Amino acid sequence: MMSVKIIIPTALRQHTDDKDELQLNSKDVKSALQELVTAFPDLRSYLYSDNGRLRNFINLYLNEEDVRYLQGEETTLKDGDVLMIVPAVAGGAPGHDYQGPSFSPSEFARYSRHLIMPEVGLEGQKALKNSSVLIVGAGGLGTPSAMYLVAAGVGRVGIVDFDDIEKSNLHRQVLYSEEDVGRSKSEVAKERLLKVNPNVSIELHKLRLDSSNALDILKDYDIVMDGTDNFPTRYLVNDACVLLGKPNVYASIFRFEGQASVFYAKEGPCYRCLYPEPPPAGLVPSCAEGGVLGVLPGIMGSIQAAEAIDLILGKGTPLIGRLLLFDALDMKFKELKLRKNPDCPVCGEHPTVKALIDYEAFCGVKDESDEVKEMTAGALKRLIDAGDDVFLLDVREPSEYEMARIEGARLIPLGELPQRINELDTADDIVVYCHSGQRSAQAVHLLSGMGFKKAKNLKGGIVAWMEQLDSGARTR
Ligand SMILES: [Zn+2]
Repeated sequence: MMSVKIIIPTALRQHTDDKDELQLNSKDVKSALQELVTAFPDLRSYLYSDNGRLRNFINLYLNEEDVRYLQGEETTLKDGDVLMIVPAVAGGAPGHDYQGPSFSPSEFARYSRHLIMPEVGLEGQKALKNSSVLIVGAGGLGTPSAMYLVAAGVGRVGIVDFDDIEKSNLHRQVLYSEEDVGRSKSEVAKERLLKVNPNVSIELHKLRLDSSNALDILKDYDIVMDGTDNFPTRYLVNDACVLLGKPNVYASIFRFEGQASVFYAKEGPCYRCLYPEPPPAGLVPSCAEGGVLGVLPGIMGSIQAAEAIDLILGKGTPLIGRLLLFDALDMKFKELKLRKNPDCPVCGEHPTVKALIDYEAFCGVKDESDEVKEMTAGALKRLIDAGDDVFLLDVREPSEYEMARIEGARLIPLGELPQRINELDTADDIVVYCHSGQRSAQAVHLLSGMGFKKAKNLKGGIVAWMEQLDSGARTR
């Protein structure tokens, strides 16, 4: 005998002693229904007409398929099958809760695994359809969370992103494919997400979120998801959420470590309670600089999606006041308690931040152009004399290096640099030199493209260095 589950819709539970499901042992759909009406005779007249035919407003779904498209009542059942009765409901079944959004049969099938969970059910699924989530950043965190939110049936998903897809995104942003490189992230995301679930609406905000537009965009969403990779936007999202009273579902990633929390100032701390001020610019590398394990944002973004769904459903214990730490190398989760800071500048008792500020200035970030950063020989000498840690990189050929070099320099000829990039650390203050500054400029350009944002070119190369030094004490 097969053990199958039959799901009773809310509208019919008054005839099943309020049972919402039943375990049956039936070989096919017909005998399952017979078994059901034998157990609950009142149901018979709802399911069957007088001539014994199944009423045509009763739809039956086996797992996700409408049985009419299988073998109808003759469809055979196997162990673990879930049979769901989905009656057509004409605007408000007797005393029951068919208000709010309605679902098409295809949506019933799509969400069937949600609908059969008591924690979600029809009410929860309606809440999801009624809800809206804004995802800030369609990158490593934003893409997996968007996929799950859309698949779960969150009715309106907004995406803020103005970037184009780069090849280096593909190892973690699995919503995008090879042929999308060069296209707009938000546009490709919308195309893909609507293929995942055409029953939701996707709204694009193709812009850089800043103090002038953030409140206006965030105010139309129930929940904000922070998938940013930089401090100015992170503080902007936090402050805007506090000012608007919205929950901010946060995650951040670095190399193989992730953090997640829900900052909801109405019920707990905000990001500024944890970090009142950003670290000095350049001290904490971003993923572009420090790298990130490709699967990590998939995990952290999924955690964000789960948190948003729990908040919408009002179920479980959200990460409010808790910081979840994940280590993908040691495969460990840890949890820290976060407290609301009464002196918090935005959500504290006497807030000093009552409107959005200039976050680029607050975080000490200047817009850095693509041009190669340079350092003069004199400036380099002053740094070295002051005892600062400078990583000197010589990109000339070995024969040139043998002839003369700056003391302590590491030789990696320009042609070998791409293969030997792992010998360098993005956290180091790298100064690159060659003979006169041409090859090293190329090297700095290459390095900065690979995340070595602190790399600088020695202007004029070793020639300038030697001219600068009267004694030549540091060369040999
Ligand atoms: Zn706060």
